[in-house]
Amino acid sequence: DRPRGPRAFDGQGRTADGVRVQLLANVADPAGAAAAVEAGAEGVGLFRTEFCFLGRTEEPDVDEQVAAYRAVLAAFAGRKVVIRTLDAGADKPLPFVTADDEPNPALGVRGLRTAVRHPEVLGRQLDAIARAAAAEGADVWVMAPMVATPDEAQEFAAACRERGLVTAGVMIEVPAAALQARWVLEQVDFGSIGTNDLTQYTMAADREAADLAALSTPWQPAVLSLVGAACAGGAEHGRPVGVCGEAAADPALAPVLVGLGVASLSMTPRALGDVAAVLAATTSEQCAELARIAVAAPTAAAARDAVRARLPVLEELG
Ligand code: PEP
Ligand code: MG
Repeated sequence: DRPRGPRAFDGQGRTADGVRVQLLANVADPAGAAAAVEAGAEGVGLFRTEFCFLGRTEEPDVDEQVAAYRAVLAAFAGRKVVIRTLDAGADKPLPFVTADDEPNPALGVRGLRTAVRHPEVLGRQLDAIARAAAAEGADVWVMAPMVATPDEAQEFAAACRERGLVTAGVMIEVPAAALQARWVLEQVDFGSIGTNDLTQYTMAADREAADLAALSTPWQPAVLSLVGAACAGGAEHGRPVGVCGEAAADPALAPVLVGLGVASLSMTPRALGDVAAVLAATTSEQCAELARIAVAAPTAAAARDAVRARLPVLEELG
């Protein structure tokens, strides 16, 4: 028996035949940044900036935001950090941008949509990110949550570039964006699939409802088809597409995602070692075969069982 606790990861993610898969961490605050460094993450694939805003009745000013972002970026000099702009609304309401009388907040004004009524809040956040990026040595990428159309992607990219933020992307977490990825990703430099919300919106199942857990899994073949569609759309324009939802942390699902065309996986730091170990034991051809099997399965359980049966390396993970 190997000792319990996270498997160590130090270096670069690769398949057994040497295809690079960046293994990144999801980070929500400076303590999370330290944990990501400790776990050997290659960088940050999702920096959730809400920590600076949640529990506040007023927007933090630009100086305060700069200090908060710098505290995370400082840990990643020379490495990639994907900063997500404010994802307010639905499960993360904020009094200064979200209305409290929406009948369906998950389908309402959330994520980038809040910028229609409050463009100045997004503008100030991008100003703060640009200042923090200029002051620290990290390779800063910026992305917007809840993007559904190419027009939204284009406007966001323009707002980033105006401020000298040259690598702009979008989250793919709305089914429309996955299906239209060739048009959405044409407007930006990269995409990052949020499988938590993509699953919620594909299955029409509230991600917080415990009774719907059987529906709310990224193993659903319909969700995996959309992941494949997003990657194919990105590939048409040479745009890398990553995954930053919980799916990336499932060691059995990681090779499926790679087989669907995903270039990077961002996860909770403690999952990095197991995911790296499975990829290192699986060739890119096997990943492609696992992806075909999972997408063709009739149910989530059938997809998971078929994939797990073909990954004996999982047994070594304990
Ligand atoms: C997601 O939706 O998968 C995601 C990464 O974003 P969040 O969980 O913060 O909505
Ligand atoms: Mg999301």
